[in-house]
Amino acid sequence: MIQMRIAIIDRTKCKPNKCNYECYNFCPLNRAGKKCIEIIDGKPVIDESICIGCGLCVKKCPFKAIKIINVPEAKGEVVFQYGPNSFRLFSLPIVKMGKSIGILGPNGIGKTTAIKILSGQLKPNFGDYNKEYSWEEIIEKFKGTELQNYFELLSKGQIKVIHKIQEIQKLREVFKGKTVRELIKLDNPLLKEFGLDKILDRKIENLSGGELQKLLIYASLSKEGDVYIFDEPTNFLDIRERLRVALKIKALNKTKIVIDHDLLILDYIVELIHIAYGQKAAYGKFSQPKGNNTAINEYLKGYLKSENIRIRDFELYFLEGTEKERGKTIYLEWKPFTIDLGNFKLEAEKGEVYKKEIIGIVGPNGIGKTTFIRALKGDFDVKPIEKKITISYKPQYIEPKEVTVRKLFEQMNPNYRNEFYDSLLIRPLELYELFDHDLTTLSGGELQKVITAAALLKEADLYLIDEPTAFLDIEERVRIARAIRNIIKEKGKAAFVIDHDLMFMEYISDSIMVFEGEPSKYGKANKPLPIKEGLNLFLKNMGITIRKVNGRPRINEPGSRLDREQKAQGLYYY
Ligand code: SF4
Ligand code: SF4
Repeated sequence: MIQMRIAIIDRTKCKPNKCNYECYNFCPLNRAGKKCIEIIDGKPVIDESICIGCGLCVKKCPFKAIKIINVPEAKGEVVFQYGPNSFRLFSLPIVKMGKSIGILGPNGIGKTTAIKILSGQLKPNFGDYNKEYSWEEIIEKFKGTELQNYFELLSKGQIKVIHKIQEIQKLREVFKGKTVRELIKLDNPLLKEFGLDKILDRKIENLSGGELQKLLIYASLSKEGDVYIFDEPTNFLDIRERLRVALKIKALNKTKIVIDHDLLILDYIVELIHIAYGQKAAYGKFSQPKGNNTAINEYLKGYLKSENIRIRDFELYFLEGTEKERGKTIYLEWKPFTIDLGNFKLEAEKGEVYKKEIIGIVGPNGIGKTTFIRALKGDFDVKPIEKKITISYKPQYIEPKEVTVRKLFEQMNPNYRNEFYDSLLIRPLELYELFDHDLTTLSGGELQKVITAAALLKEADLYLIDEPTAFLDIEERVRIARAIRNIIKEKGKAAFVIDHDLMFMEYISDSIMVFEGEPSKYGKANKPLPIKEGLNLFLKNMGITIRKVNGRPRINEPGSRLDREQKAQGLYYY
């Protein structure tokens, strides 16, 4: 097998003013008088063409800033590289005109970089990061491949690409002071369907994540284009909104590229999937396009059959089935209660949680899910739980503080490094490498893992976890779901988890609470139900049916034979 060795230096971790240039001083080639590591503008640069991969610099760097990686079958065909010793992309997804293509893979593996290239925002530089390639040169490089024609059309402006970006929060800054009305066309019937007609006079900086997401998807769907790219269209949306958006994207009769971490939704929208793989922050590649079912199964298994490549050394189990028992010993009970916030009212039925039970909470945004768990926490005048208990709470929105991860964990639990937490939490979530990082410097996904872990570290009787999957990729979702389940079961406590990823919710929950009502006006919290019953009720409220294929849920096409049959039998989650 042909291998290529690459050196990655994490510029945010490299701190030359706090080290003694150990990398430079210990490199055996440097010591032999060669220039394998040079210091340029105060920072090290590794010459990969002469590096022998001994790994001494990796071991000696006090800040773990260097990685030396062997890339199998790379054959040196870099498509894009940001700079010296930095992330590089070895291939691109193939755009098949008229098709709906999905991209599935972990964060930090180049999916967004590839999308920027396909939308014309970035030009391939083939690893030559100091050079700007002309379109003629780029087309020549792709000659004979399926992308040649695509780049020819793109270079001549004969393809109009509509790109819904991933980093939607950036809009708050870019369009600060503008109202929704000023930014979008108002003549599309989707305006009402997406609920945007109610927020036309709101300023962009005051929109929630979900509203911003719907606004951007609406803006994309309202434009005329040839290729539509949707980069993580489900972030911040509740399940109902995800399905609504998915239906509209699917119905768009154009070439589409969709990146998302919600398997259920991605599977529903697209016809073919490229699996992105590689090593986070080091390199990324794309598999050949595969049929959805094959791609998702291979991705979960961690083995790409036609490429004969293992992308992970373990399988991702996301499914435990719906046949979980609710438990025998009642752990806590809550009384029926009402919370009237003036413009919003929540009514909750009485209920109970069993020892070691995890209750999943599902329902639209603005229906009172967070209000419910905050009521259990004691944030309002009502006291639904009579027993005196301690609570650990992971909020939905996280404000990062200026404190290191290590310090935060110490504050939550001085025993955070014992074997119990090490094996069930810290190692599975790969948190060691973040210990010396300040919370303010973490990415959205890293912050999510750290704050959820901090909540689990705290000793408490009841754990309230609000939206733990936001910003996480599928692998991280599985890891965090397992960590939450393991900790709650092993500690013999109980938890409530709110989330919008249905596969995650089925996996993590022992029972389901369905919230119904009218968002932003009235919410009703039903008592916990067995998973199948709960998900059935939830999907019935939305008029969506889901069937299981080899244990994996798939959305039925509305109006299809299966959809009609399941609805007739009342089997919305089958
Ligand atoms: S890579 Fe490590 S050892 Fe080298 S300069 Fe940076 S911090 Fe120092
Ligand atoms: S891996 Fe070895 S040869 Fe390569 S840069 Fe590091 S110390 Fe030098």
